[in-house]
Amino acid sequence: MPKIELETKIKPYNRYSREGKSIMLRYFIWTIGCQMNKAESQQIAGYLDSLGHQAATSFSNADLVILNTCVVRQSAENKVIGTLGLLKGLKNKYPHLQIFVTGCLVDSDTQELKRRFPHVDLLFKPGDFQELIAWEQKQGISIEQKLLRGVYNNTHGAPSPCAYIPIIQGCDNFCSYCIVPYRRGREVSRPLGEIVCEVEELIEQGIREVTLLGQNVDSYGHDLPGHPDLADLLNELSNIDGLARIRFLTNHPKDMSLKLIDTIASLDKVCEHLELPVQAGDDGILKAMRRGYTVERYRELVHAIRRKIPQISLSTDIIVGFPGETEEQFEHSLSVLREIRFDVVHVAAYSPRPRTIAWREYQDDIPSDVKKERLHKIEGLQAAVASEINSQLQGRQVEVLVEGKKKGKWFGRTRSNKLVFFEDAGNWLGQSARIQIEKTSPWSLRGEVKK
Ligand code: SF4
Repeated sequence: MPKIELETKIKPYNRYSREGKSIMLRYFIWTIGCQMNKAESQQIAGYLDSLGHQAATSFSNADLVILNTCVVRQSAENKVIGTLGLLKGLKNKYPHLQIFVTGCLVDSDTQELKRRFPHVDLLFKPGDFQELIAWEQKQGISIEQKLLRGVYNNTHGAPSPCAYIPIIQGCDNFCSYCIVPYRRGREVSRPLGEIVCEVEELIEQGIREVTLLGQNVDSYGHDLPGHPDLADLLNELSNIDGLARIRFLTNHPKDMSLKLIDTIASLDKVCEHLELPVQAGDDGILKAMRRGYTVERYRELVHAIRRKIPQISLSTDIIVGFPGETEEQFEHSLSVLREIRFDVVHVAAYSPRPRTIAWREYQDDIPSDVKKERLHKIEGLQAAVASEINSQLQGRQVEVLVEGKKKGKWFGRTRSNKLVFFEDAGNWLGQSARIQIEKTSPWSLRGEVKK
C-alpha cells in the first residue's frame, strides 16, 4: 500500500468559490511506474504551472489530484486501486476535489473504469493530453498547445540539470507477458526536428543532460518521413551547444543495430550506459515470451557493444517465474547473469496481465513462494556482482553531473550511470564535479570533491 497522508486539516479549496470566478488551482500528481510516466507527469506539471496553477505538497491540500498509473505488474495495479480507494474517502468529504487518472490503467474501454470508479472526474490515456487540454478549455482558461508537442518538461519543481524527453510512444512488439501495447498503443515517433527544438529550449532553461525515452527506442523513426533512426537523432542532438550528456532507454536486443553501437562509440556526448533487457536466460522461455532473440544472439550483441565501447555499463531486466519455468531454466538465467556481469539488474516476478498472450495461453503455474525464492536468488547474486564491479572504482576519480541534494549530501551520476554522493559546502547544483571515490556499495558510491 502506498504511503499516503490523509490528514485533512487543510481543506481542499474550491476554485470557483470566489465570486464564481476561476481562481488558481492547487494540483498534486501521484506517479508510479516507468520513466515514461515520470516524464509525462513532469510535462503535465509544467503545463499546469504555465497556466498559473500551483503544485500542492500532498493529496490533502490539493483541489486537483492526477494519478499517473502503472499496471505492468499486479503489485503496481494494487497500489493504484488502493490509492483510488483512499481518494474516494477524501472526495466524499470534499466534493469539490477533482480526480483525474492517466497512465496505463486507462485503456480504450473507459466505460468500465467509469463504472468501477465513479468518483474519478477525467480519464485520459497515457501521453494523450487532448482530454486534459479540452478540460482546461472548458474552464475558460487560455491554453497553449505546447503540451501536445511535449514542450513542457521537467524544468518544473526542484531545478535539476537533467530532463526526460519522450521520443516514441507505444510499442509494436507484443511480448507475450506485456500489457504496454494494449494500453499505450502502437508506435508513434515524434518528428526529429521537434525533439531538437525541445532540447534547444531546455538548454536555454539550464538543462545539461537529456534522457530520450521510448518503450523501444530502437524503433524510433520508422513511421516518420525519410525514416530517421535513433543514430540520426543522436547525431543531431550532439551538435547542440550547451548539451553535455545524452542518454536513452530502453533498447530492444532484437532491434539494436550496429550503426547505433558505432554512433554511441563515436559521439562524445552520448553516455556509456545502456538498458538492454534480457528478460530470461533460457531459449525456451524467451520463445514463450516472444522476445524475438536467443541467448546466443543476446550474448553476441553484448560482445559487439563491449568491443566498440569497452567502458560501457549495462543494465538489464529479468522476469522470474514465467509460466512453466523449470529449476533448470531458472539456473540458465542465473548463469547468464554470472557470465555477462551486468552493472544493474531489475528483477520482477511474473504476474499475469489481462488480455496479454501469456494470460490467454499459459497457466500461471509457478507458486508465489518459488517466484519469491528465485527473485531473492537473483537479487543476492546481483548484489555480489555489482559490489565487485563498483569496488573497482575505489580510489579512482569520476566525473559527476550534480542533480541535487539529499539529507545534506550532493548527489549525481557518472556517465556510466553510477549514483555518487559527496559532501561540500559549495553550490554544486547543475555543475560537473570531479569526485575521488572513497567508499563503494552495490548501489552507490561515496567520495570527496577534487577542486
Ligand atoms: S518491447 Fe515487449 S516488454 Fe517492452 S514494451 Fe514492448 S511489448 Fe512490452
